[in-house]
Amino acid sequence: MSQPAFSRRVLLSAAAAAGAAISLPFGAESKESTTMDKKDMEGIRHYEFGNVTVTSISDGTRAQDPGLSLTSKERIEELVRQSCQTPDTLEHYVNVFHIKSGRRSVVIDTGYGIGKGLALTRLFSEVKPTTITDVLITHCHPDHISGLTHNGEAAFPKAKVWVPKTDYEFFTGESVPEETRKATAEFFAPYEEAGHLKLIDKAETLFGDFSAEFHPGHTPGHAFFVLDTEQGEIVFAGDVAHVAAVQFAVPTISARYDMDPKRAAAERIDLFTELAESTHLLAGGHLPFPGIGRVRKFGSGFEFLTLPYRDRL
Ligand SMILES: [Zn+2]
Ligand SMILES: [Zn+2]
Repeated sequence: MSQPAFSRRVLLSAAAAAGAAISLPFGAESKESTTMDKKDMEGIRHYEFGNVTVTSISDGTRAQDPGLSLTSKERIEELVRQSCQTPDTLEHYVNVFHIKSGRRSVVIDTGYGIGKGLALTRLFSEVKPTTITDVLITHCHPDHISGLTHNGEAAFPKAKVWVPKTDYEFFTGESVPEETRKATAEFFAPYEEAGHLKLIDKAETLFGDFSAEFHPGHTPGHAFFVLDTEQGEIVFAGDVAHVAAVQFAVPTISARYDMDPKRAAAERIDLFTELAESTHLLAGGHLPFPGIGRVRKFGSGFEFLTLPYRDRL
């Protein structure tokens, strides 16, 4: 697969170099932000794959709790240090992806939403919310669906929202506490009322070059979305891994949030193995920003290599 070209944002780069906050010329609709400063721009990366543009957007990072992984503290510390980090410098990433492909303008997972996370404010500084045609939800955890609404209204007023049926029914059903059930339903409500909620019940092509696959383990209906580009496939794998420093080296270690840790580990190993034998790309909700890159075999496990940064003059 050839190296993707990186799109340039010359105006923004010039402003960043000057450390200036500028008004954006894109007609942003978000009331919260019509300016971007240097910090905002550091959280966005654009990649071009032929005629498809993929934008990685950080929702903000937090200190990573190394205890997230289901193994001993000592083992985690050892693995973290092997990856040239220390447990107290480990970041927890939340990534949102935007894809422009033909007439489609697609968001994959939504982060914590405007006011709680940074991703949608960053995204809406570049594209109008009303131009988003589709939102794909890998699973129904709050860090992936909270951005669907803003003050109770659809954050993507014209978009169809695609969500795995099994996950939607689980998280709005009797198996979860009432609070979770209610909160989940509220995030999807404006889309359901508008007839824009699309429950995915089988692995198939959704539209254009996007298809869905089910890989339960992290949640009962956890989905991967595969985008077929002229430069190869990109697998948007949601929460297949939470702590890259630990789970690529030893993919059998599942996270506390994996509802079925054994199944989640099996799916993780299958995906990493498949990707390491191909040139396809992996994009993940909690992989180190920009959260998109390649997987290769390394030692007895794997390694994740983010796409290289390019800023050629
Ligand atoms: Zn999750
Ligand atoms: Zn998550």
